[in-house]
Amino acid sequence: MAPSVSELATALSDANPSPPRNSDTISPVNGTNSAENNNSAGPVNGSATHIVDGKAAGPTVNGLATGDLPADSIANYDVLIVGTGPAGASLACFLSSHGITGLMISSASSTADTPRAHITNIAALETLRDLGLDSECTSQATSGSCMMHTRWCHDMAGEEYARIYAWGNDPHRKGDYEMASPCAPCDLPQTLLEPILVNYATKSGFRTRFDTCFISFEDKGPAGVDTTLLDNISGKQYRVHSRYLLGADGARSRIMKQLELPLIAQAGGGTAINILVKADLTHHIKHRQGNLHWVMQPDQPHCDLGWMAIVRMVKPWHEWMFILFPKPGVPRSNPTKAEYLAQIKNFIGDDSIPAEILDISPWTINDIVAAEYSRESVFCLGDTVHRHPPFNGLGSNTCIQDSFNLAWKIAYVMKGRASPKLLETYSLERQPVGQSISTRANVSFRQHSRIWESLGMFPDSLSKRVAILDELSSPTTKGQLRRQNLQAAIAGTAHEFHGLGIEMNQFYSGPGIYSMDEPDPFRLEGLAAENPVMHYMRSTYPGKRLPHAWLNKKCPVQPISTVDLAGKGGFTLITGIGGASWEQAANTVSKELQVQIQSCAIGFSLEWVDMYSEWEKVRGVKESGAILVRPDRFVAWRSQEVLLDENACENKLLEVMRSVLGLSA
Ligand SMILES: Cc1cc2nc3c(=O)[nH]c(=O)nc-3n(C[C@H](O)[C@H](O)[C@H](O)COP(=O)(O)OP(=O)(O)OC[C@H]3O[C@@H](n4cnc5c(N)ncnc54)[C@H](O)[C@@H]3O)c2cc1C
Repeated sequence: MAPSVSELATALSDANPSPPRNSDTISPVNGTNSAENNNSAGPVNGSATHIVDGKAAGPTVNGLATGDLPADSIANYDVLIVGTGPAGASLACFLSSHGITGLMISSASSTADTPRAHITNIAALETLRDLGLDSECTSQATSGSCMMHTRWCHDMAGEEYARIYAWGNDPHRKGDYEMASPCAPCDLPQTLLEPILVNYATKSGFRTRFDTCFISFEDKGPAGVDTTLLDNISGKQYRVHSRYLLGADGARSRIMKQLELPLIAQAGGGTAINILVKADLTHHIKHRQGNLHWVMQPDQPHCDLGWMAIVRMVKPWHEWMFILFPKPGVPRSNPTKAEYLAQIKNFIGDDSIPAEILDISPWTINDIVAAEYSRESVFCLGDTVHRHPPFNGLGSNTCIQDSFNLAWKIAYVMKGRASPKLLETYSLERQPVGQSISTRANVSFRQHSRIWESLGMFPDSLSKRVAILDELSSPTTKGQLRRQNLQAAIAGTAHEFHGLGIEMNQFYSGPGIYSMDEPDPFRLEGLAAENPVMHYMRSTYPGKRLPHAWLNKKCPVQPISTVDLAGKGGFTLITGIGGASWEQAANTVSKELQVQIQSCAIGFSLEWVDMYSEWEKVRGVKESGAILVRPDRFVAWRSQEVLLDENACENKLLEVMRSVLGLSA
């Protein structure tokens, strides 16, 4: 009998009894970026007053050798970011766009050298659009037909069992994606994303130091944080003082360890092995395009080092990541490169194609989320606080959105425009997102077992597996049932490959949002209520992301999105016909609080025209109403209509702004 999902998960975990780790268990980076190459940044706000001349290693902290530190030697920066992955590097970008700079470090010697994350979703791309980086990302990414399918097959050259449209390419779903955002999903390997981000951050004034290890920190309360760093090259240590320490040091975070933030951990799913392979499969792929190919061979003896694989496109169609799942219950061994290559060739299924292994790196399938993301002056983000498998492609995308949420809050507090209380909303808003995506990714993984079962992957006996595979094409009732089961299981993966809802439906609540004027609590409606993983509901309810609608000028020019009206470091107040008093109020309150509040009017013959009358459908307020959008493009508050007079509008807006910024008494 096929094992249940929980039995399977247990078997996978038992087979790999390693402590929780995640995708950053990649072997040491062999990057070529030297520290010098990456330190060409321009002037910074923080002045490096005195870089310490550390002495030879003595005692150890966190298992790393330390030198003696002269107590008065310290470098000062506004912020210190640990990690140059998607979380740390994007945070540096967003902070620098607010004029906040600092030091960003990584223990590796370069940006990512293996292409782990790749699916870049529209929610993450919208945040990068705020910096104008979305077009650079899409120009380096692959999209469209290259990522249009996920397939299940016997081998890359052989029989296909099934396929499903993926990542916005389902003809039934294309419109949903286009209606949801001005951006389109793309496939951008982490090896290409990180340099884009680090380049932007350093050119905007962030100092970047590779080969630099975080060792420990001392939180000094409102005075900031003193952090001890180790320069891997000289072996010397120095200390950095910063107002905030930002922990983006990935799944094996030392910062989290020192902070002792509570972790919510569920049983993990064992280990997977990433094998980066050079093999030109162009002629086989011509009629099998897609960026994910599950390879399963029930009619072959199960190979211990990979009883099945996901073959992921890296560079169409000559570089691939073979993600191997070791056979459950088999003790961990150390296969040679030749053994791996033999299995890779088996999964390719065409011996005439030369294949070369470029990298081998194991990672662990986790389900771990921190219960809180911050303490005092230390804020954690990315895989540091949420660790889960790559199903649904939510990892790096969520890291980038954590940064976008955190950056404006840090900037506003540092510039004295908001109370430090605003920073408490970071964990409050982002932790539930981390929790939900981690759960989703693990559910998606487990749901694959129904496909494995339908294809006959589970029995130990080869003859039983062959019989099941044969049954799939038999004209019997059992055969028909098996085919139906397979089709239903494949259809179910739409939750993974068209999970627009889990990508876009985030909803924030708490003091960073003003929902007191709403008569009813927020409720999902329509398709999103039926299936919130698959379907996104556009709404201006406070706490929801600003919905996208195309706008233009009276005399048409290049259209822009409502999303483009907001962001860029400031608040935005959107109104319409009859809402002139709101525009006046935005001006006055902006001056009073010294906070940018840009007003925009959308409506017939106004500054912006609602091109397809889509804004009218989603704006959720009357024409004269107002929608206040935060710098991270989430709705802070809305008013159904204009108030009695300008004074009333000003008073209301002031009250709301003070509340959102934590300035209320
Ligand atoms: C096979 C696979 C496929 C994936 N596919 C996707 C996908 O399609 N889409 C998606 O969104 N996500 C995907 N992910 C997940 C994604 O890779 C991670 O979520 C993402 O890399 C996490 O980013 P991060 O910046 O938080 O951490 P990391 O990328 O792990 O970066 C951590 C950084 O901290 C540094 N660091 C660590 N310790 C120290 C220290 N002590 N001192 C100094 N620096 C330190 C590291 O050098 C690194 O720079 C995938 C993961 C895997 C394994």
